[in-house]
Amino acid sequence: MPPDMGNRPRNHRRGRSGGTFRAATGSESCPACQFRLAASCPPLTMGSSHAATSTPAVLPSQRGRRLPVTETATAGAARTSPMAVSFHRGHDLKLPPHFEAPDPLDLPAVRRWVREESARGLTALDLFCGAGGLSLGLENAGFGVLAGADSNAASIQTHVANIGGLGYHGDLSDPEDFLDHLRAWGIRKVDLIAGGVPCQPFSRAGQSKLRSLVGAGQRSGDDPRAGMWRSFITVVERLKPRAVLLENVPDLAAWDDGAIVVGFCESLRDLGYKPETAILHAYEHGVPQHRSRLFIVALKPGARFQWPRRQDKQPTVRQAVGDLPEVGPAQRDEQLKYGGPRTNLQRLLRAEVPSDERAVVYDHITRDVRDDDAEAFALLPEGGTYAQLPRRLQRYRADIFSDKYKRLEWNGLSRSITAHLAKDGYWYIHPAQDRTLSVREAARIQTFPDWFRFAGQPSLRYRQIGNAVPVLLAESIANSLHLALTLPPKRGRPRLNGQGFRQDLLTWHADNSRDFPWRDHVDPWHVLMAEVCLHRTRADQARPVYEALAELAPTPADMVRNARKARTAMRSLGLRWRAENMVKIARALVKEHNGEVPADSLALRSLPGVGDYVANAVLTFGFGRRTVIVDTNTERIVGRVRGRDEKTMRWQLRLDLHALAGREGPDAAFNYALLDLGGTVCRVSAPLCDDCPVRRHCAAHRPAAAR
Ligand code: SF4
Repeated sequence: MPPDMGNRPRNHRRGRSGGTFRAATGSESCPACQFRLAASCPPLTMGSSHAATSTPAVLPSQRGRRLPVTETATAGAARTSPMAVSFHRGHDLKLPPHFEAPDPLDLPAVRRWVREESARGLTALDLFCGAGGLSLGLENAGFGVLAGADSNAASIQTHVANIGGLGYHGDLSDPEDFLDHLRAWGIRKVDLIAGGVPCQPFSRAGQSKLRSLVGAGQRSGDDPRAGMWRSFITVVERLKPRAVLLENVPDLAAWDDGAIVVGFCESLRDLGYKPETAILHAYEHGVPQHRSRLFIVALKPGARFQWPRRQDKQPTVRQAVGDLPEVGPAQRDEQLKYGGPRTNLQRLLRAEVPSDERAVVYDHITRDVRDDDAEAFALLPEGGTYAQLPRRLQRYRADIFSDKYKRLEWNGLSRSITAHLAKDGYWYIHPAQDRTLSVREAARIQTFPDWFRFAGQPSLRYRQIGNAVPVLLAESIANSLHLALTLPPKRGRPRLNGQGFRQDLLTWHADNSRDFPWRDHVDPWHVLMAEVCLHRTRADQARPVYEALAELAPTPADMVRNARKARTAMRSLGLRWRAENMVKIARALVKEHNGEVPADSLALRSLPGVGDYVANAVLTFGFGRRTVIVDTNTERIVGRVRGRDEKTMRWQLRLDLHALAGREGPDAAFNYALLDLGGTVCRVSAPLCDDCPVRRHCAAHRPAAAR
């Protein structure tokens, strides 16, 4: 450990002063990742040697440090399609590890470093760390990030160069190799495991495509990409951190009605954590852009966690980048003269730039601009969009791409900075200059400080910046977590989520259960038939029809054989399409599932007319699985109990239901009891609150005397 470390504030371990670089040498390059050999290079190839191919240069980086950086020669221009912006690949910036990072070739030194870092204060791991926006926020809040892990080589290079610590470059879908590395490094426990599991596969479009493939029998309902989530949970399970922090896109919460989020929270609950979720807006935490992120925080019951407070004032694009020198398109110099910060945000982002480099700025590199785009940009006013251009300059359909171009406003927020910046920058046209944002401007809007450098060619730098968690947003939530982990826990025995609610509900239900013939069969096919009959129908109407069907068609094959009789039996229920659907479901089961009902949610939902509700009812009542049943009854109860308003999103209600189900989870007993409570006590109008078994848990309950 360098001698200057002693008095440095905990969150400044990455150094304003002192220490010396281990300059990158050719003999330490890795054949796999093409940069300096790290302990994480797969497989453990410590000691391999490779010839250097790059030319050393001196460029700045790292807090308060002059950084020896290697850069390969410019690779020349490339054009991938006639519509593409002429693109110059630019310098392939190579960054050496941070000067305080342990040498991964020296395992005893790594273990010593890990011990010293752990003794210094709270520690963290950052999985799927990317360039390190989340890690830097954690460091700024006082966590020591021991290691970052990512499958992207340039991101890991950036992370190790700026954050320091250890870098694992590899595929985390199987976490065993990563866990082996942690063991080798002596990392046996940490206070926090944080990360942003890749979210792109879980788009709505991806989900409907998956359903159609399952429906067509072209793939199984098991999505291998869910492995990333299991990996994250596996690492949590093995290391047992005191806290977990997960960041993702808000759309994830809506994916499959929150299936991923709910499943993830349930896994954490099984491991003894109390998960909480929130969607935070970056501009409410000092970041000048429209960007929302879903966060899941999980701590042990009793910890005092509070979501960070919002800031009243929104920062602006001008406050972030208004001090950067004016440049044109295709500006390729890595270093430009700089006049000095003018706003508080600029001063913050320049604060730890080395004193001898206050007059320069790095990465103010811009894309080239096509001639027709240059003309279009010049015509766009501040805040202007594609639809405002004359038709001759509209290369794309204006009805579909109405906002293809967007000139940012000085006094407004930027659009969310995304990895798409690596492809083009049309959403991010400079407020006053006829070009798209530079690499440094994008980094500034993501609130990366100016000493933070990004490895690789400019397009890779854009990608890393776009994929990052904004540093100030990360810092905001990291401060809340740091406080929660340093405050003493609440006094008294922590109550497990929902345990009291569940007990009161089930005790009541033991004497108040409704009696229906379909509850006599713990058989998926009978449950499926009953649910189809009950769709938009009262239970007393459905009862005789169900009994007739159970007699006629005890199996799907019998339903196919007796299709005409089954249709006739269902006639009294009305809705002729429902009888048709019943027969179609039976045919699909015979044809695609050997006459059996599949025990898989996606496969169930791929059956004709089967939605989430019916699929979950079959899983819980027919197969004994734990899953919540969300319908108007259960939504009403959980909304009242938790004091949610009508705008509450369904995934949040699903999470609430899981929490109310207690340690045993939403099993059949809990779901039947909840449905019966909704049918007899917690009615739509005039709920019988004074007779309600769960009134002591209910936010909406007011005793009759108070009404
Ligand atoms: S107390 Fe009233 S509002 Fe609350 S769950 Fe019971 S019946 Fe519904």
